[in-house]
Amino acid sequence: MQATKETILQKIKEYSTIICLRHISPDGDAYGSAFGLAQFIKDNFPTKKVLVDGEPSKYLAFLATPDLVKQEDYQDALVIVTDTANIERIDSKYWQEAKEIIKIDHHPNMTPYGDFQWIDEKKIAASEMIADLVLTSKLEVSSVAARLIFTGIVTDSNRFMYNKTCGETLMLAGQLVAKGFDLQSIYKNLYEESWKNVCFKRYLLSQVMIYDNHISYVKITDEMLKEHQMDYQTVKPWVNIMSNVKEFKIWMLLIENKEEGYINISIRSNSYIINGVAEKYNGGGHQLASGAKIYEWKDTEKILGDLSLLIKNNVKYVGGQ
Ligand code: AMP
Repeated sequence: MQATKETILQKIKEYSTIICLRHISPDGDAYGSAFGLAQFIKDNFPTKKVLVDGEPSKYLAFLATPDLVKQEDYQDALVIVTDTANIERIDSKYWQEAKEIIKIDHHPNMTPYGDFQWIDEKKIAASEMIADLVLTSKLEVSSVAARLIFTGIVTDSNRFMYNKTCGETLMLAGQLVAKGFDLQSIYKNLYEESWKNVCFKRYLLSQVMIYDNHISYVKITDEMLKEHQMDYQTVKPWVNIMSNVKEFKIWMLLIENKEEGYINISIRSNSYIINGVAEKYNGGGHQLASGAKIYEWKDTEKILGDLSLLIKNNVKYVGGQ
């Protein structure tokens, strides 16, 4: 069932236990939306039990730490899942045991789930939806909640640069900043890098391959990670090392996740609709920013072939807002 902001606030008021969830391999928007919403509920309803489940992220540890959530916590709970398009990516073993489930997301709704859904593909971040929910609620928005939600918007929009950033995004972000938190410390935590990381990026740039003139990619094997003493989680968001290169219409970063037994692929474009190809290879995402998984390096060629067809067939993004 479609939910409005009012339905969601009503459901939050009804429940005494609320568990906020987000996707596996969390990014800033996953953390910002789930922890930001949880903080907002805690601030306004201090007697409720509010938990955030899921694996912790080293890179996002400056924002918050997940709770130790037990299976029994889910009984009679309201679960709110943010920023997670499909059920396989929900970072919880027990989410289906909740009494009611709400999905709040800005991805294409390929896999509807939950009792209530609030989906808005026009939004740059799930955190922008949470910002809208809390700032129009007439309830308190603390600086702690504002900081979390703002971080989600900043990361998914790449500092307000990506398409779908609009006047409303900036207005909501401005209202969050006005709540008073240390903006510079967020940027420092997100973007300051060690020399070791910069050197690895320099090495990756030397490994860029170009397919059909307009598709660039880098393959990172587990061996390369070990040799340079890097880890999967640190390197995973680095697809952007190939962005803003005039000749590259589509770019992708492939990283071997030996522990989980797959090769993760981040695919980006500034002009071609890539999420159809991502879906074909165990993935999905947005039209210009998607993720996929393969299990053998040789499948890279197949993806490259499919991506080059997008360019040949002019499968262009025409979006704006
Ligand atoms: P990433 O490249 O991991 O930053 O992901 C880019 C976008 O694609 C995000 O919106 C993710 O939620 C989505 N995405 C990444 N991997 C997958 C996957 N395996 N299945 C579905 N969506 C994905």
